[in-house]
Amino acid sequence: MQDIHILIVEDEKKIADALKQGLNENAFEAEVAYDGTIGWKMFQGGSFDLVLLDINLPGMNGYELCRAIRSFNPSVPVMMLTAMNTVEDKIEGFDAGADDYVIKPFDFRELLVRIRALLKRIHRTAATGTLLQAGDLQMNLDSKEVTRNGQQVSLTAKEFQLLEYLLRNKNRVVSRSDIALNVWDIDFDTKTNVIDVYVNYLRKKIDKGFDNPIIHTQVGMGYILKDKS
Ligand code: CA
Repeated sequence: MQDIHILIVEDEKKIADALKQGLNENAFEAEVAYDGTIGWKMFQGGSFDLVLLDINLPGMNGYELCRAIRSFNPSVPVMMLTAMNTVEDKIEGFDAGADDYVIKPFDFRELLVRIRALLKRIHRTAATGTLLQAGDLQMNLDSKEVTRNGQQVSLTAKEFQLLEYLLRNKNRVVSRSDIALNVWDIDFDTKTNVIDVYVNYLRKKIDKGFDNPIIHTQVGMGYILKDKS
């Protein structure tokens, strides 16, 4: 396996150094920035396969840094490390383009499983890069472009992943926990409304203004993306 390079941006030295050591022991290359601005410089100057990102940081905070990383590289996986655990924090992080969240204090083995899952998902997407389609909705996995009836739809990274998952399961009901596990790699407390919030974002962008909606709610069960209404 080729070397996987991970950037750790974390100002708590003890946590950062323990992460680096743990990752090294598991055959990952890891570099540490103890400051957001330095992390941003390192990211631009390096070639990283994944970023572990604290939120409260000196220099740029984790959300700002995540947005900067996203505009520079839309596909590199970003995992947020946070002591906060509210729906609002999660939404803010995902809005900034984070792929996953780990709540501190975390178990290193769990973090490792999540890191491997994220890397696998990215590689899987790269390997199958083609066109996904439902009716007049098209998603190009290579160029990351989405169109509805020929018109470009601009999606955030998370909305794109959610739509990709729905498209890969088209004409099949997917539950909120299916979505949480497959799009966020997280066992969300299904009482939280993060999933519904994101499905609504997506609907506004792809279904609003069309007579034939593609995304449907299956009351009590979840969501279904359909070819035909
Ligand atoms: Ca911190």
